[in-house]
Amino acid sequence: MTDSLLNSKVPEGDIADKWDNYKADMKLVNPNNKRKFKVIVVGSGLAGASAAATLAELGYDVEVFTFHDSPRRAHSIAAQGGINAAKNYRGDGDSVHRLFYDTVKGGDFRSRESNVHRLAHVSLNIIDQMVAQGVPFAREYGGMLDTRSFGGSQLQRTFYARGQTGQQLLLGAYQQLAHQIGLGTVKMWNRVELVDTVIVDGRCAGIVTRDLVTGEVRSHAAHATVMCTGGYGNAFFLSTNAMNCNVTAAWRAHRKGAYFANPCYTQIHPTCIPQADDTQSKLTLMSESLRNDGRVWVPLNAGDERPAAQIPEAERDYYLERLYPSFGNLAPRDISSRAAKRAVDSGRGVGPLKNGVNLDFKDAIARLGADIVKERYGNLFEMYERITGENPYAEPMRIYPASHYTMGGLWVDYELMTTIPGLYAAGEANFSDHGANRLGASALMQGLADGYFVLPYTIGNYLAPMLGKAIPGVDHPEFKAAEQAARTRFQGFLDIGGTRSPDYFHRELGKIIWDYCGMERTEEGLNTALGELPALYEEFKTDLRVTGDGASVNQTLEKAGRVEDFFELGMVMCRDALERRESCGAHFRAEYQDAEGEAQRNDEDFAHVAAWEYTGDPMQSVRHKEELEFETIHLAKRSYK
Ligand SMILES: Cc1cc2nc3c(=O)[nH]c(=O)nc-3n(C[C@H](O)[C@H](O)[C@H](O)COP(=O)(O)OP(=O)(O)OC[C@H]3O[C@@H](n4cnc5c(N)ncnc54)[C@H](O)[C@@H]3O)c2cc1C
Repeated sequence: MTDSLLNSKVPEGDIADKWDNYKADMKLVNPNNKRKFKVIVVGSGLAGASAAATLAELGYDVEVFTFHDSPRRAHSIAAQGGINAAKNYRGDGDSVHRLFYDTVKGGDFRSRESNVHRLAHVSLNIIDQMVAQGVPFAREYGGMLDTRSFGGSQLQRTFYARGQTGQQLLLGAYQQLAHQIGLGTVKMWNRVELVDTVIVDGRCAGIVTRDLVTGEVRSHAAHATVMCTGGYGNAFFLSTNAMNCNVTAAWRAHRKGAYFANPCYTQIHPTCIPQADDTQSKLTLMSESLRNDGRVWVPLNAGDERPAAQIPEAERDYYLERLYPSFGNLAPRDISSRAAKRAVDSGRGVGPLKNGVNLDFKDAIARLGADIVKERYGNLFEMYERITGENPYAEPMRIYPASHYTMGGLWVDYELMTTIPGLYAAGEANFSDHGANRLGASALMQGLADGYFVLPYTIGNYLAPMLGKAIPGVDHPEFKAAEQAARTRFQGFLDIGGTRSPDYFHRELGKIIWDYCGMERTEEGLNTALGELPALYEEFKTDLRVTGDGASVNQTLEKAGRVEDFFELGMVMCRDALERRESCGAHFRAEYQDAEGEAQRNDEDFAHVAAWEYTGDPMQSVRHKEELEFETIHLAKRSYK
């Protein structure tokens, strides 16, 4: 049974009408009254910039916070391959229903139908919105927007701007945000980090921040607060995320009562440049779009040391094409990642460390010519060559799975409100619409859908009844207590005076999570992790060394806080993975697989969202359930064969 606090507030009506019904019934705030409401938006990536610009354009008084020195540095800028939308420009059979279906199936039937349908529905508007802003999407010769394929779909619904789609989209959203900053409707706080959320009388009353340049701790009150703070893929230490992505904002809200949903749903992306040595601190993504034309293979026989060019066709195993003929190289990420792992584990890995598989463009170059391949993927090829020193036009790229995206996050209802009234979460920070596995090119779509087309409506519905009512100011004792707690916490890190850096602990903690809660999980491994993590955390509390002081720029001190939050999150990730006794999407429990090694779901016991409540000790967090109801799509075995 669904826990009573997890009321998803899904509107009545047929799935295709729910969003329209919601908008027809919601409460409105008069345009002249909107400026009386202050809304805090934390984060300036695609979700945050689009939400803030739109709320300000509507008339709300908006403040935006980012720890970056410019909103444009948000991690969204790094997104490469594209953004989905059910435009059906190709006439290849796409529709809102098809995108909805593909997303629910892609997530292995572990997402909320109504949210996903709304996402597919508003995807149509996103492309128009971004084109109107001047985003230079790729176009065909005749001037129509071009599209390509991404994993888990048999259509071409992915719009793109070379391998820089996130950059172009963020520049579009940022431009609108900058316009509002110029108009004075948005106050922008750069290099300021959220370190706590404040709850008064059961509602989110605002946030406490720390200035990363001066160390000043300060409170900010608002009628509503939105977390657009991205995902937690860096819990693994090595990931494709920007180095400073972290879970702190979401985790601090979780500690104050926001439930954290499905933390074990973490996406491992199949096409990243393999790790080169143990000291590496960052992994680089090679976009999934490359699998439109690149073919994935390993030598047929283990221990084959020959260079790729000397291995004849008959001695190559194009394993994705062999195992999943209808989707081939564009099988979804979870499935492709596991297949790559199995190939490498069987001794058929390639490269100096035998830790990769080939992504080969030889056939594409023969078919299309090197110029076309360069036009489509030139910047990605260049990036690959700069990092590896190998020329991917002449020899295959080497790729291997790496932590990339997190489907888990703050639990939100249909309005994107967390379990704390007045606190919302959007973009990768919420547990989102992607179930147990996100399809490629759907994160940008979701971030922009949330920011441009969902929150601007749902926040008004919450604010309307608050008109004329006073909200707690920053002199409220709860704000003062949170400020004091933050100062004490950061001073505490400085005072430990141990021997190990935050980076050391991050690397060690990430290794535990990767080894036991990565691509494959087992009960035994997860129990091992749940023994090792608290022990390492104790060491962190007594042996941490933070150099410098708290009154000037100190990235070691910033990192200490973020690593501490990763420790707590890591424990709940492992507990979530342990409790979910099934395999679904990216959550692969080795005990639950079929004869062909594919994930085996248990719909009877686990067709629900697991939402965790903080109790003061992450090892004692309480697991709640939101049952998932499938009224439109029938639960079926997910197959891409
Ligand atoms: C290499 C790479 C390529 C990708 N390519 C694609 C793609 O082609 N298509 C696709 O759909 N998806 C892609 N993704 C996923 C997608 O980029 C992200 O999911 C998406 O951009 C997240 O946007 P966001 O607005 O939710 O968060 P982000 O862009 O991560 O922004 C988070 C914001 O929150 C701020 N913030 C965080 N914590 C705090 C705090 N405590 N205090 C103050 N500010 C804070 C940050 O400063 C930042 O402004 C890719 C991901 C990676 C890693």
